[in-house]
Amino acid sequence: QVQRALRALTLSLEKLQAVKGRMLEAMDQGLSQQKSAQGTVRMLPTFICSTPDGTEKGSLLVVELCQSHVRTLCVTLPGDGNQSPQLLLKIFEMPGDIPQGTGEALFDFIAQCVKSFLEEIGNPQHRLPLGFVFPFSCRLTGLDKAELISWSKGFQCSDVEGKDVVQLLKTAISKQELYHVDVVVLLNSVAGTMMACGVRERPCEIALVAGSSSSCCFMAEAHLLEMAERTSGQMCVHSEWGCFGDDGTLDDVLTPYDQRVDQESSNPGERRFEKLVGSLYLGEIVRHAMVLLAAEQALFTGRNISILGTKDLLKAQQVLEIMDNEDGIGKARSVLEALGLQPSERDCCRVQQLCRAVVSRAAALTATGLAAVLSLMCHSRELERLLVNVGVDGELYGATPRFGEILRSVAGLLAPECAVSLVPSADGNGLGAAMVTAVALRLAAQRQKVDELLAPLRLGRADLERVQALMRQEMEHGLNPESNTDSSVRMLPTYVCNTPKGTERGNFLALDLGGTNFRVLVVRVTEEGIHGASEIYVIPTAIMQGTGEALFDHIMECIMDFQVKQDMMDHVLPLCFTFSFPCQQLGLDKAVLLTWTKGFSASGCVGQDVVQMLRDAAQRKQHTTLKVVAVVNDTVGTMMACGYDDPRCEIGLIVGTGTNACYMEEREKVGTVEGDEGRMCINMEWGAFGDNGCLDEFITSFDRLVDEKTINAGKQRFEKLISGMYLGEIVRHILLAMVEKRVLFRGKPSLKLQTRDIFKTKLFSTIEIDGLPLSQVQGILRGLELEASFEDSALVREVCQTVSTRAAHLCAAGMAAVVEKMRESRGLDKLTVTVGVDGTLYKMHPHFSRNLQQMLQELAPNCDVTFLQSEDGSGKGAALVAAVAWQGADP
Ligand code: ADP
Ligand code: MG
Repeated sequence: QVQRALRALTLSLEKLQAVKGRMLEAMDQGLSQQKSAQGTVRMLPTFICSTPDGTEKGSLLVVELCQSHVRTLCVTLPGDGNQSPQLLLKIFEMPGDIPQGTGEALFDFIAQCVKSFLEEIGNPQHRLPLGFVFPFSCRLTGLDKAELISWSKGFQCSDVEGKDVVQLLKTAISKQELYHVDVVVLLNSVAGTMMACGVRERPCEIALVAGSSSSCCFMAEAHLLEMAERTSGQMCVHSEWGCFGDDGTLDDVLTPYDQRVDQESSNPGERRFEKLVGSLYLGEIVRHAMVLLAAEQALFTGRNISILGTKDLLKAQQVLEIMDNEDGIGKARSVLEALGLQPSERDCCRVQQLCRAVVSRAAALTATGLAAVLSLMCHSRELERLLVNVGVDGELYGATPRFGEILRSVAGLLAPECAVSLVPSADGNGLGAAMVTAVALRLAAQRQKVDELLAPLRLGRADLERVQALMRQEMEHGLNPESNTDSSVRMLPTYVCNTPKGTERGNFLALDLGGTNFRVLVVRVTEEGIHGASEIYVIPTAIMQGTGEALFDHIMECIMDFQVKQDMMDHVLPLCFTFSFPCQQLGLDKAVLLTWTKGFSASGCVGQDVVQMLRDAAQRKQHTTLKVVAVVNDTVGTMMACGYDDPRCEIGLIVGTGTNACYMEEREKVGTVEGDEGRMCINMEWGAFGDNGCLDEFITSFDRLVDEKTINAGKQRFEKLISGMYLGEIVRHILLAMVEKRVLFRGKPSLKLQTRDIFKTKLFSTIEIDGLPLSQVQGILRGLELEASFEDSALVREVCQTVSTRAAHLCAAGMAAVVEKMRESRGLDKLTVTVGVDGTLYKMHPHFSRNLQQMLQELAPNCDVTFLQSEDGSGKGAALVAAVAWQGADP
C-alpha cells in the first residue's frame, strides 16, 4: 500500500512534459486579451520594463505590507553598480484588527509607519520616491496604477477591492502631510526578488517564489502582452499560476490525498496547483496520506490514530526536516511521538518516504512551471539557447537543498534549450523593491528626455492638416503661370493625356534612370498581357557626379550591352525613357532637366533636353537604330502601368530612393499649357515641396543636419523627410543626440555611429516588424558594430518607428491634398480613385503603406482611395506611354 501511495505521488517525466504543455497553453491564454478571463493562469503586466543597469542613484523609500507587519526601508544607491547600497530598515507590528478593518484604517496605518520611520531617520526634506510592495493580486495599468483584484492571505479590508491602491496610499500619505513622498511604483514581492538578484552579476530575468504561495515573474517580450497595449520592448510579467488546474487540467495528477486536502480547505475546487506546491499544503497532503494508509493498516498498526484527523497537524517546516538524510528519521520519530502515535521504526521510515515524495513532487511541479516560462521566453525571443539567471525565494527553496536540486534538474530536463542558474534571493530586506523604484525613476527621466527629443518629429492631426493645406496652396501656385516659378511644387505638364485602355499593343525598349539602379528593358505588350526582359546596370558614383557626356555614354554602353545579350542589335524598336528627375517637358519626347536630385550631379545637363543628350550619345557610339519616342517620369510610368489593370488609376506615387507623385488634372485647371479639353498628367515634383521655406516649422534639427550633408542642401526638403535615401540618416542623427543626452548606449559615444550612411533604410523594414524579438534588433545593431542592450534596442526601434511614421503621415498629407484637389476640380462630392505606387520603401516597409492609407482616410474623408502596387512601373509603364502615344499618332 505504501508503495502504491508513493507511486501515486511520483510523476513521470512524460507526465511532467504533458503538464508543462498544458501550463504553456494556460499561459498563452493568460496573455491573450480575449481569453485571459477564462484562463487559469493570470499573466499580469507589471509595467516594470527594465532591469537595473547600475547607474541608478539616490535615496528611495520602500514600504512593504506583510502578513503581520509593515516594513519601511530607506535605500541610498551610489550610482555605480559596484558599491553596495546603504540600507536603513524598520519594522512596525500591525495591530491585529487591521487586516479585517476598513481600507482607510489600513492605509492610514501604513502612512503613519512611513511618517514615524522618516522621523527616525532624521526627516529628510528632499523629494523621496517611494516603492510600495503590495503582495496581492492586482491589475496594473501603469507602474503606479493598480487595482486590487482580490484580497488573500487573511486580509479582508473593506472598500479596497476594485480600487486603485496606489491612490489610496497617496491619499493616506498626504493626510500625514508628507508632501515630499511620492509613490512612484507598486510591485509584487516577486518582481522585487528578480531585481535584487540581478544587481550583482548578469541581470536576473526570472524570479520564482516557492513558499506559502507559488508564482513566477519574468521579463517578457512586450508584444506578448496584449493587455499592456505595448508592442515594443520588454516588460516583467507576473505569472500567477496558483489557479492552474482549476478547470480540471490537473485531474490526472491529483491523488486521493490531494482531493481530501482540497475538500477540507476553505476554498474547495480552487487554487489546485497551489495546493500541490505551496508550503501551506504539504503537511496536509502528508497527513491525509497517513490517514488513508493507517486505515489500510499500512501505518501505525494498532495505534490510536484519532489525532490524525486534526487539521494542520504537520507544518511544512517539519515535513522538510523529516526529509533530511541525516537525522530525518529521528525527526520523524520525535514529531510522531509528540503526536502520541508511538511509531515503529518502519512507520518512521515510511513517513519519511511520504514526506520526500510530497516535497519532491512539489519541487518537480514548480520546475514544470518554471520550464514553461523558460520555453516561452526562449521561443518568443527566437533564440536557440537561452542563458538566464533565476532568482529564487521562499521557505521551500531555503529550507532544504533537495528542493533546489530537483528544481534545477527537472527544469533542465523539461526545458533543455535553456541553461539556468538559480540565484538565491538577496532580497532579505526589500532591496529589490528599491531597485525597481530606482529603475522606474531612471526610466521616467529617460522617457522624458526621449519624448522631448522626439516631440518635433511626432506630427499631430493639426500639423498634417496644415501640411495638406500648404501642399494644396503650392499646387495651385504651380499650376498658375503667374506664380509657377515661386512655387516649390513645380506641377510639370507631362503631355500624357490618357491613361491606358488595355488595347495597346507593340514591342518597346525602355530605360529607367532615376535612383538606385539603371535598367534597360524590352517590353512586349500583347493580347496575353505584358512581358519582357530586363537587365540592371550600376551607375558608379563617379559617373553620377561626373560629366553629362560620360553619363550618357555609359547609358548607351549599357543599352548596347543589353541589345547584344538579347540578340536584338538590329531591331528598331520605339524607346521610352523613364527619367525620374524634374524636367520641363516641352513635348512627349522633349524634356529639359531642371535640376538633379537623389545624389546625381553630372555636369552640363541642367537646362538641356535629356532626349537630345541621349541621341547625341547614340551618335557618338554610332548607334543608328535608336528611336526615342517618349520621356516620362517614373511616377507617370507607375500610374500608366497600374492604369493598364485598373482604369480608375489616375495617380502615380513613388516612395523609394526619392518621393514624387503625379495625377490626372483637368486641362482647364492647368494654366501652364494651352487647351481646355480633357485631362493631362501633371508631374508634381513634390519632393521639392518646402524648398521655398513653407515647411520650415516642421523641419527638425535632425533634418537640417541631414540636409546639410547632401549634395543638394536646401533642396528637396519634403523628399528628405520621407524617402529611403534619407530616413536612415535622420535616425542616425537622432541616435547621436540620444547618446549625447545619455539615454542611449549609457551615454557612451560610439565612433561607429558617427559614420555616415551606416544606417540603411532597409533596416527599418526588419527592425519595425511587429513582434520582432528585441534580441533580433540587438543582433542587427551588433551587425553594425553597435553594442546595444535590450533597452537600447527598444529605443532604436522607437526612433525608426517615429521617423518612418512621420514619413508615411507626411506622404498622406500630400496625397490628401492631391485627391481633394482632384475631387474639387471634377466637381464631385465623392471621389473614387486608385493610386499606382512604386518604390521599395513603400513596398517593403511593414507599416508604411498602412500608416499612409489610414492617415489619408482621415485627412480626405470624401475620397475613397485604393492603392495598387505597380509591378515594374518604369518598364511596363514606359512602354504603355509609348504605346498610348503610338496609337494616338497612328489612327
Ligand atoms: P528607386 O527609387 O531608386 O527607383 P527603389 O524604389 O528600389 O529604387 O528604392 C530604393 C530605396 O529604397 C533604397 O535607396 C532604400 O533607401 C530603400 N530600401 C531598399 N530596400 C528597402 C527595404 N527592404 N525596406 C525599406 N526601404 C528599402
Ligand atoms: Mg524606381
